[in-house]
Amino acid sequence: MYRTKNCGELRLANLNEEVTLAGWVQKARKFGGMIFIDLRDRYGITQLVFNNEQNAALCDEAAKVGREWVIQVVGKVTERSNKNPNIPTGDIEITASTLTVLNPSEIPPFTIEDDTDGGDELRMKYRYLDLRRTAVRANLELRHRMAFATRSYLNDQKFLEVETPVLIGSTPEGARDFVVPSRMNPGEFYALPQSPQTLKQLLMVSGFDRYFQIVKCFRDEDLRADRQPEFTQIDCEMSFIEQEDILKMFEGLTKYLFKTIKGIDLADFPRLSYAEAMRLYGSDKPDTRFGMPFVEIKDLTAGRNFGVFDTSEFIAAICAEGCAGYTRKQLDELTEFVKRPQIGAAGLIYVRYEADGSLKSSVDKFYTPEDLKKWAERAGAKPGDLLLILCGATEKTQKQLGELRLEMGSRMGLRDKNKFSCLWVVDFPLLEYDAELKRYFAMHHPFTSPKPEDIPLLDTNPGKVRANAYDIVINGVEIGGGSIRIHDSELQKKMFSILGFSDEQAQAQFGFLMNAFKYGAPPHGGIAFGLDRFVSIFAGLDSIRDCIAFPKNNSGRDVMLDAPSALAQEQLDELSLRVQLAPQKKI
Ligand code: ASP
Repeated sequence: MYRTKNCGELRLANLNEEVTLAGWVQKARKFGGMIFIDLRDRYGITQLVFNNEQNAALCDEAAKVGREWVIQVVGKVTERSNKNPNIPTGDIEITASTLTVLNPSEIPPFTIEDDTDGGDELRMKYRYLDLRRTAVRANLELRHRMAFATRSYLNDQKFLEVETPVLIGSTPEGARDFVVPSRMNPGEFYALPQSPQTLKQLLMVSGFDRYFQIVKCFRDEDLRADRQPEFTQIDCEMSFIEQEDILKMFEGLTKYLFKTIKGIDLADFPRLSYAEAMRLYGSDKPDTRFGMPFVEIKDLTAGRNFGVFDTSEFIAAICAEGCAGYTRKQLDELTEFVKRPQIGAAGLIYVRYEADGSLKSSVDKFYTPEDLKKWAERAGAKPGDLLLILCGATEKTQKQLGELRLEMGSRMGLRDKNKFSCLWVVDFPLLEYDAELKRYFAMHHPFTSPKPEDIPLLDTNPGKVRANAYDIVINGVEIGGGSIRIHDSELQKKMFSILGFSDEQAQAQFGFLMNAFKYGAPPHGGIAFGLDRFVSIFAGLDSIRDCIAFPKNNSGRDVMLDAPSALAQEQLDELSLRVQLAPQKKI
């Protein structure tokens, strides 16, 4: 037997028990005639003590042991004179009687402790060592618990987990596909699923009624903190349901996870239409941990010959409570913030509602204190508050002010990671118009059903058609999204034509789905949650990378496996591939 106990379970109640432990040496230190070793395994850390006076030979052995060696120790549980209240095993130690080295280790490239000295790239290269760190491991344990609880909830609700293939044809979710060449079909390629969208819809045609899958999806997109080229979805689909049924079912799942994993009871989730979300927060995934909604003031600004406002389609303020005391420097910083190319505003206008009730602004030349007072009143500002105002074209300015609102939320400490604010955003537009390409794109995906009452608009004003589509948002992060699907092959055909597919193209790419719909497709709809994002929200992480065992870096590389990599000519020949470009320098 390698061990009788693990490194996290011994307490004072186990005093005098003889135990065998095995694990990794976190730290070894000499103290007078004693050697102390912190022994680590998945369950915790237990202190071992080797006493020179009691057993000099054993003590000599222990002195040779280095960091990350794998050892096995037999000893007696004794009470520590110097207790460590920071760890659950901190009241006891093991007075060792035998020591077996199971495997020595080279000196690790960084310290394997909560506060490591290893930089990001180094830790990724040696991810298997990084994963020994308690903080990183805890994220994966959390991920396991969330996936497990999800399965349990959905199983109780009669969902069946069905595996769908990874080698498929292209799925149009709006991103680029990763493709895999087919040796047996030269010149032809599989695509890795961006999601199992069409397959889960086919399962509904097959009568599976309630499907789910915790499944890898692949999207060849530029990476950001909350994106990885491969990521995991909790993918779900249901038949004979309406939007309301889906929202209830998956609000239920979300509440269940918060309750079972975090012990938090959530109230019912508010619902906001896409139009309202944009109007109030300039975002379709508003962070509702704090208020600070937009207040439009265009009508209050006219007739004062301020050209910038007079020529702006949209003028709105946010009210930063208690920020009237912001210094010139702080206001300059905010101006710089909104002028950054990623945000792109031309400038920032402010009104200070001073504690003494006077009003001062960056547009005092044009507006009287009475004018400013009206703006402040509309924004619900009190003495001591600061109004921040942006203006310009409506949609662009809403997005810019949305970014400023988030920045202010962060600066004012209103985005507490331990507070959770969930909501549904509903009634998304069905289509998005791309002015450059002069064509419509599906906002969600081409299988999303228009609201029945908006179907006539498809012919007259497609941009105005609302979809039966919904997103679940937590703390400003889109955790999941889905829609009620089109289940009528004629309507689906029409949708493809609005999206610019010829009949032949639609038949070639989606013939399988439209044909399936001819054989009794039930009304159906579904949703997919991003498991990685969901876990990061629960863990309070800034990046989804930290809850993925072996993530890719920002250039989409796995630095540990050194992937992607070039192929040998032989392999390329076998796949009938000709590579023309020399592989780029690795980043
Ligand atoms: N397949 C969709 C997505 O990945 C989710 C859904 O509509 O169920 O975003």
